[in-house]
Amino acid sequence: MSDCLFCKIAAGEIPADKVMEEDDLVVFRDINAQAPTHLLVIPRKHIASMNDVTVADAALLGRLLDACRRAAAHEKLTEYRIVNNCGESAGQSVFHIHLHLLGGRSLGWPPG
Ligand code: AMP
Repeated sequence: MSDCLFCKIAAGEIPADKVMEEDDLVVFRDINAQAPTHLLVIPRKHIASMNDVTVADAALLGRLLDACRRAAAHEKLTEYRIVNNCGESAGQSVFHIHLHLLGGRSLGWPPG
């Protein structure tokens, strides 16, 4: 999608601190980290939010989760949180689906 920030990061048109790049996904550091490790895992395919996922995307979502596991291992984390914010009131600010991978400190529950 031409005016999507994360599509541009995936395409290399906007710089980001990337830690993994694969055929179908990219992992990069959040610019406003909320924990010592705060990574964003995004598909290259533009999907606006979890509400826009179809069953055809099931394998891709599995790949995103697997990338979280591998990125956590890359960061030497065995304890971490994976978050998806869906919709503005849930905290979504970028409408290109992404998983947050947070770790490196104690994380409270429930989230705010
Ligand atoms: P969300 O609020 O769940 O949509 O998450 C979007 C995340 O993208 C936020 O945590 C932002 O800090 C992060 N973010 C926004 N712009 C950039 C950027 N240019 N590079 C890296 N992370 C970004």
